[in-house]
Amino acid sequence: QEKDWQMMLRLRNPGGRVPAQLYLAIDKLSEQLGNGTLRISTRQAFQMHGIPKIHLHEVIGTIIRNLGSTLSACGDINRNVMAPAAPFEWGGYPAARKLADEIADLLAPQAAEGSYLDLWVDGDLSYRIKPSVLVEKVRSRQKNVPIFSGEEDEPLYGITFLPRKFKVGVTVPGDNSIDLLTQDIGLVAFADSSGKLEGCNVYVGGGMGRTHNKEETFARTADPLGYVEGENVLDLVQSILALQRDYGNRQVRRHARMKYLINERGIVWFKQKIAEYFKGPLKRMRLEGNTKLSDYLGWHKQSNSLWFVGLPLLCGRLGGELKKELRSLVEKYQVEIRLTANQDLLLCNIEDNDLDQFKVDLANVYESAQSFTPLARHAIACPALPTCGLAITESERIFPKVLDRLDALLSDLDIETNILVRMTGCPNGCARPYMAELGLVGSGVDQYQLWLGGTPNLMRLAKPYLQRMPLDELEIVLRPLFSGWRESSNDRSFGDYIEDIGEANVLQLLGM
Ligand code: SF4
Repeated sequence: QEKDWQMMLRLRNPGGRVPAQLYLAIDKLSEQLGNGTLRISTRQAFQMHGIPKIHLHEVIGTIIRNLGSTLSACGDINRNVMAPAAPFEWGGYPAARKLADEIADLLAPQAAEGSYLDLWVDGDLSYRIKPSVLVEKVRSRQKNVPIFSGEEDEPLYGITFLPRKFKVGVTVPGDNSIDLLTQDIGLVAFADSSGKLEGCNVYVGGGMGRTHNKEETFARTADPLGYVEGENVLDLVQSILALQRDYGNRQVRRHARMKYLINERGIVWFKQKIAEYFKGPLKRMRLEGNTKLSDYLGWHKQSNSLWFVGLPLLCGRLGGELKKELRSLVEKYQVEIRLTANQDLLLCNIEDNDLDQFKVDLANVYESAQSFTPLARHAIACPALPTCGLAITESERIFPKVLDRLDALLSDLDIETNILVRMTGCPNGCARPYMAELGLVGSGVDQYQLWLGGTPNLMRLAKPYLQRMPLDELEIVLRPLFSGWRESSNDRSFGDYIEDIGEANVLQLLGM
């Protein structure tokens, strides 16, 4: 008799957008056929855990029939395209969201979509992703060598697809809610005063995954490639993907991400090579100004007559009473949900007329939500044990206790400045711990690599300082560093303090 296999299923939600109909459908599926919870991933998509294999057809079919998809949410293909979750109707936000949708359509597989629909909704092609006119136009250029793979059915990917997963994120100047520099392609969209896309700063070659004790694997932040005019952005994105398809390492899977290609051959080589694929001009990067990690929590005006509210969720886990209350809110107001890269949830499109009653109803949800300290507000952790087969040790399950311990230590030292903390159960880095001011990366049972020196706005890679720190020693290890930070005279962030005093002094404070 076959084993009772259980699956994890991830949806494709470009920019984290989940319409009310889809949310209500997956909420019900998670109750009836899953483990009763939903989880927001760090790429702004819902994950469902504990789906028995026998129910996969029903679950995926229901998702598709309710305007969702799981196509290319996993695999060696372009993954969920990220964009600021906030539904702001001003500045460059609408253009950035539109671009993210277009890129998601442009980089969706073509033939594979047909088989996907065959498998899950008996070939009903009315559920096909419908590309915009602009996307169709760019797709039709695929037959211009060398973007064209040579495969009529799958013109961009070819039959062998990509060497490895591929990640794209779009944002606007000043908003780093999407962890821009961790993407294979990071785009910063500039819009004119009418909101029309002018063009994008383009960054290439970011990526977090690494393997312990394999120096040839590493986390990397993306390099600036150049500025591209709005009309050419999709062409360039497609060209970069095709270049990685053709030159990415297909011999060593561990070395197959585009970050390794760029690291080995250099950004100058990459710029020369991309000119064979992309015929438009690449200009000097435009100034972006200061950037910050926007989390959109609390109430915000979305447009003249609409509002949205951001609710914090630790580790993106939705379950129990909170999930029930949320369901009734979505049912009653048909609000759209948007998921952030920080694993929080926004309830959008709330009309002026409904605002007062909505706030009353929302109070119930807040009552059942966890109370959040400033440390927890931006902290994220991956699922790890018992859900993830790659986990070396715990992450999500013990994260609240770890945060409590850090909070207690900071308050004991009278430190009020917040720290960006991230934790994972293995070096794959799903919660992007290498960008945090304080990153804990599972390296043994209850042992963690200690990474320090990222920035609160996610613009600098941290460095590893300890290889196997027993979690029991968290306070002993961190107290001298926190004390040194408190005593340093200015109000730098913890990450900047670590960077400024230098590696030798950090190691000394760690007793090394
Ligand atoms: Fe990702 Fe590793 Fe965490 Fe699993 S344990 S979710 S692979 S970081």
